[in-house]
Amino acid sequence: MSVRIGLIGVGMIGQDHIRRLTQVLFGASVVAVTDVDADRSKSVAEGVRGCRALGSGQEVIRADDVEAVVVTSWGETHEEYVLAAIEAGKPVFCEKPLATTQDACLRIVDAEVAGGRQLVQVGFMRRYDAAYRAVKAVVDDGAIGAPLLMHCAHRNPSVPPQFTSDMIINDAAIHEIDLVRWMFGEEIAATQVLKPRRNSKSALDDPVVVLLEMASGALVDVELSVNIGYGYDIRGEVVGESGTVALAETGDARVKREGLRSHRVAVDWRERFSRAYDVELQEWLDALSAGTSTGPSSWDGYAAAAASDACLEALRTGGRTTVSLRERPDFYMKAQ
Ligand code: NAP
Repeated sequence: MSVRIGLIGVGMIGQDHIRRLTQVLFGASVVAVTDVDADRSKSVAEGVRGCRALGSGQEVIRADDVEAVVVTSWGETHEEYVLAAIEAGKPVFCEKPLATTQDACLRIVDAEVAGGRQLVQVGFMRRYDAAYRAVKAVVDDGAIGAPLLMHCAHRNPSVPPQFTSDMIINDAAIHEIDLVRWMFGEEIAATQVLKPRRNSKSALDDPVVVLLEMASGALVDVELSVNIGYGYDIRGEVVGESGTVALAETGDARVKREGLRSHRVAVDWRERFSRAYDVELQEWLDALSAGTSTGPSSWDGYAAAAASDACLEALRTGGRTTVSLRERPDFYMKAQ
């Protein structure tokens, strides 16, 4: 079975997902696209067999031949489209963040629960990355004892001019916020955000260090730098009671020379996580064909947004901010 997809927002990741859905994966065709930039969506549609450009996201969602929706527009616009897809009864894969605040995420959770069917998957793709999966397998196996700490770094070479300081939290750190909930299988209890010396090459509060206190007491520190220049560099190391496990960079060539060790650094997120995006969307398509859902849910989108809201509050106050979640509906209790 091939799923006919309508995609909203043909920017960087939208075009990358169209390539993936039409040239890499099995079981999908992209039949309609849209963008606020009509020329851009028209030229993208022209490059995809059987695809047309429509005037708005709502038109894409309503189109009779669109069976499932992919939302790859900016975060602020996600809520409107995800709610419309739920109302239309169509499965929707929404790039992260599900929405930029927990209130918006809860409106999605409520609409989905009221509809009685799980239709939403959030693009928390780190869960599909081979290196993160290998780290989680070691943690789950108990090989390093109970996890006590995790050190993460999330470094972007640069971000577009419209990227704000808040987005360092609710668009970038949201990846680590989701992955530590998944890695440790528990919720985040409190957050704190520290602002070290500012990067003079950046107009933002950049870098920041986000501290995430897990329900068990395990502590996660995340360095976020969004104008680091040298490349896209993602690090993670879990410290357990009796050992550590770290992400290994994929496909790197380690060079030892003149007393130094070096290896190539990915140029951006497309190169670093290319295979994870493939696995993520293929598993989504397979689940659609099987009439099930397996990936990060609206509840995961909401829990991540609640923690990122707490981080933003902690950033403003300089203090420790607790995270409280609504009781999790049974609806979202499936195994992942
Ligand atoms: P982008 O290149 O700016 O693409 C977004 C596109 O959506 C642009 O073409 C934009 O048009 C268009 N757009 C904006 N508002 C719209 C609306 N209301 N309806 C239809 N189209 C609209 O940004 P991106 O880097 O692809 O990011 C898009 C989303 O993907 C963000 O939520 C981001 O966090 C997420 N993302 C996720 C990952 C990941 O690792 N999972 C990686 C990258 C991005 P204009 O340019 O004219 O505004």
